[in-house]
Amino acid sequence: MLEGRCAVVTGGTRGIGKAVAAALLSQGAKTAVIATKDTEEARKALAEIDPEGTGRAYFYACDISSPEACDETAKKITEDVGKVDILVNNAGITRDNILPALSKDDIDSVIDINLKGTMFMTKAFIRGMVRQKSGSIINISSVVGLMGNKGQTNYAASKAGIIGFTKSVAREYGRKNIRCNAIAPGFIETRMTDALSDAQKEEIMKLLVLERLGKPEDVANLALFLASDASSYITGEVIKVDGGMYV
Ligand code: NAP
Repeated sequence: MLEGRCAVVTGGTRGIGKAVAAALLSQGAKTAVIATKDTEEARKALAEIDPEGTGRAYFYACDISSPEACDETAKKITEDVGKVDILVNNAGITRDNILPALSKDDIDSVIDINLKGTMFMTKAFIRGMVRQKSGSIINISSVVGLMGNKGQTNYAASKAGIIGFTKSVAREYGRKNIRCNAIAPGFIETRMTDALSDAQKEEIMKLLVLERLGKPEDVANLALFLASDASSYITGEVIKVDGGMYV
């Protein structure tokens, strides 16, 4: 499906991003994954993304909350890997608490990484996509960006912001044949959700129409579709992968 294409996945070293990177690579894309630091975990993840050792997986350390780092990394990826056709803005963090207990840093870091990081990375690659007159940008939002959630005011605001950004990019670049869509996952089993208490997990389970938690691969399947030409007439959409959590 993606033979000859180049993809970038931020936060591609574990959880949803790692599953997305593996899915894109398995369909023939050269895939660059980004995480904050070049660690042993990141290198191990790269080997798992490319189990057959095709050599099509690349790693770059970049803190996406820095616009300069995003520009520099985009330049390096374009030189090493090629012209980027697919950008998956997946990296994200949570700093959950009730509103009065959120520090300025809890608010800033979530907005800086989740929302501004998505904007900086997109800005870093958009000119290249305009030049080649094609591109698929996939932003990982969250179902809480649509429905809100107690204890996640900072996170929900960042994810709702991603939806407005997605629709605006879709409108601004549609005539250049660049599509931009958002995925809104519900509860997916990753390190991010491991941090939730059993009581919180039980509350979430009650909302799931499909009565099971999601897997990173459930999100990766949709990302693959949105990255491919099979979705060539879909842009500006927000698609939930939430097991019916927010019907
Ligand atoms: P995760 O397991 O915690 O992985 C997050 C990834 O983002 C890691 O690779 C991490 O690498 C990277 N990252 C974090 N901060 C970064 C930064 N400043 N610069 C570059 N990379 C950074 O999270 P996940 O559960 O897979 O979530 C992935 C995305 O899906 C997030 O945007 C999350 O908000 C969204 N989402 C998740 C769920 C869920 O239930 N899991 C639901 C809805 C939406 P390092 O820490 O090594 O940098």
